[in-house]
Amino acid sequence: MDLNALFGAVGAAKSAVDLLKTSVAARDQAKADEAIADAKKNLAIAYDSLLSVSQQSLELYKQVASAEQRINELRQENQRLAAEIEDRKRYVLTDIGGGIKAYAFQPVDGESDAAHYLCQPCMAKGHKSVLQPHGPRRNFKCFACDSVYISEPLSAPSSPLPRTTNFWES
Ligand SMILES: [Zn+2]
Repeated sequence: MDLNALFGAVGAAKSAVDLLKTSVAARDQAKADEAIADAKKNLAIAYDSLLSVSQQSLELYKQVASAEQRINELRQENQRLAAEIEDRKRYVLTDIGGGIKAYAFQPVDGESDAAHYLCQPCMAKGHKSVLQPHGPRRNFKCFACDSVYISEPLSAPSSPLPRTTNFWES
C-alpha cells in the first residue's frame, strides 16, 4: 500500500492551495491561475492515490477475513481433535480372549455408557464401531466392517489361555 504517494500528493495539493490563497491576496491573476492548475493537478494525483489505497485496503480486508475464517476452521478442528484424543483415552487395546484384540471401554464412576468393545480395524481408520454379540459362544461381530471376533477356541486348549476381564460376563 503506497501511503507515501497519497500523503505526498495531498501535501502538494495543500501547498498549491496555499499558493493560490497568497496569489489571490496579492491580486496576482497569473499566479492564481498557475496555482489553480497546480492544485487541480495535485488533487487529481491525490485522488488516484486515494483510489489505489482504497482498492488495496479492500484487498487486505478480504485477506484478513479469509485468514480469520481459516483460523476459526483450525480452532474448530483443534477442538474436534482434542475431544477425539480425550475420548480415545477411555479405550484400552485388550485381549478379549484367544489372542483377539479389541478396544475395551471401562466406565468410570458417573459414566453413563455401558462397558463395550470397539472394533480395532475400524478404530485404526478413525471409526468407532461397537462390537455386538455374535453366535452361540462369546464371539463378537463388527457390523461396520463385518469382522467376526472369535474369542473362544473351538476346542478346549490343553492349558487355560490367559484371559483379561470380560465385561460381558461381569
Ligand atoms: Zn470393524
